[in-house]
Amino acid sequence: MSGMAYPAPSAALLATLRDRLGPAGFSTDPADLAPWLTDWRRRLTGSAAALVSPANLEEAAFVVAAAATDGVALVPQGGNSSMVAGATPAGIGSDSDPRALLVSMRRMRTIRRVSADDNAVVAEAGVVLADLHAAVEAVDRRFPLSLAAKGNATVGGLVSTNAGGTQVLRFGPMRALVLGIEAVLPDGSLLQGLAPLRKDNRGYDLKQLLIGGEGTLGLVTAATLRLVPAIGARTVAWIGLHTAEDALGLLRMLEDRLGEAVESFELVPAEGLALVLRHIPDTRTPLAAAWPWNVLVEAVSSPGAEPIAARIEAALAEAIEHGLVGDATIAASEAQADALWKLRESLSEAEARDGVAAKHDVAVPVADMPGFMARAATAVVERFPGARPIAFGHLGDGNVHFNIRSPAGGDDKAWFAANAAAVSRFVHALVTEAGGSMSAEHGIGRLKRADFVALADPARLAAMMAIKRALDPRGIMNPGALLPLAEAAPPP
Ligand SMILES: Cc1cc2nc3c(=O)[nH]c(=O)nc-3n(C[C@H](O)[C@H](O)[C@H](O)COP(=O)(O)OP(=O)(O)OC[C@H]3O[C@@H](n4cnc5c(N)ncnc54)[C@H](O)[C@@H]3O)c2cc1C
Repeated sequence: MSGMAYPAPSAALLATLRDRLGPAGFSTDPADLAPWLTDWRRRLTGSAAALVSPANLEEAAFVVAAAATDGVALVPQGGNSSMVAGATPAGIGSDSDPRALLVSMRRMRTIRRVSADDNAVVAEAGVVLADLHAAVEAVDRRFPLSLAAKGNATVGGLVSTNAGGTQVLRFGPMRALVLGIEAVLPDGSLLQGLAPLRKDNRGYDLKQLLIGGEGTLGLVTAATLRLVPAIGARTVAWIGLHTAEDALGLLRMLEDRLGEAVESFELVPAEGLALVLRHIPDTRTPLAAAWPWNVLVEAVSSPGAEPIAARIEAALAEAIEHGLVGDATIAASEAQADALWKLRESLSEAEARDGVAAKHDVAVPVADMPGFMARAATAVVERFPGARPIAFGHLGDGNVHFNIRSPAGGDDKAWFAANAAAVSRFVHALVTEAGGSMSAEHGIGRLKRADFVALADPARLAAMMAIKRALDPRGIMNPGALLPLAEAAPPP
């Protein structure tokens, strides 16, 4: 079944939405729609009959209820920074017969309440992550989740993808940071649960269905998020190591010595650092020699507590003495700390400048990760001769970006076109066989749906489909993302 199962929005529906939302909230002008129809990685372009932008909860509920009555497909969108084309209205209708309504949440950007006493902030779905950080800093708190797309990613998108980022090691992903959710369910009814409760055992935790639901179970309009005390001081270190196993040993040792102070533990292989130094201006090698593996560590202390730098220095000296670490440097200033983070955060960009790569965002149990990376790299090269695997990222969370670049010196675009899908299926199968996840933090979206459906445990998939049918029987919410379009669409 194709997306043609969805009716095109009728002229009456479009007129109703235009009347209710006004010119700021409704457009069918191709120039207004165009920037939002292609995904961030420029892999998919979709089509939509209108761009609908509610300004408040009432308007959001009106949009969903009106679409539900007619069975019209809705594609929620926040900052459109999805790595898996989750917010791209592709496969629903066509350019000449667009059938989806693209629901932008960017106008709902009020921070309704910040409470230092509750350690909580209530933010609407369209609040951009960087703005949220700034708002809570004003009351000496921080929201402990950050990622390189923080200038675009919105609260609604972060909730709906269960985003991770660089502080999961200490604070967990969005699932651990969302205290409450306000959402419009697919029939237009409201789920109002913004109270910042730390304990609530009234049966099923419905907010957890919406977290990571990728917009398939409802439209998130606001969330209550957990805050933690502001940082007193941070220390950033760059560490050279012989093996990935040593990196894991170092992580556990630092945790023993520094406790919860370690917030980020990011792995960068020699090849990754070389790519950054080659392609990214104003970067320089942090250590005198090149090491097979590097780790960036960030540890923080709270205000008033003893700065952490001396303790990290002592722990690293001990690690060098025991042969666990080859060399290390500690940033002496905020500028140096930023320069070290730049080496890590520019890696994806450096990789892109070097050529195309089939990208994977995989998780296995933390202790298995060094072995998995080695085994998977060997298996990929055996199966796809010349392919160049590179693994980097959130080792502390058991999550790396395991990307496969084309053989050196060839026509990488042709290689990619011929092999990328097979490479990805192969990698996703390897990680599934290893008991891991083929999507650690980016979600399934549209780009990974086929592999997810092919490789998912049947019981898991059936339960997800049952939940989808129960909450969204007409399949109007984000068809084609996460779950198969044919299953999600209304019965013929
Ligand atoms: C440079 C870069 C770095 C990144 N780094 C990380 C990282 O470290 N960790 C990580 O986890 N992700 C990362 N991402 C991915 C991305 O930033 C996250 O997935 C983010 O949560 C998406 O937010 P968004 O507002 O852009 O959502 P969108 O891309 O607009 O949407 C994402 C999904 O959520 C749904 N959605 C959006 N808003 C709503 C809503 N209000 N209600 C219901 N559904 C909604 C969409 O339909 C879609 O399925 C990165 C992306 C980029 C471009």
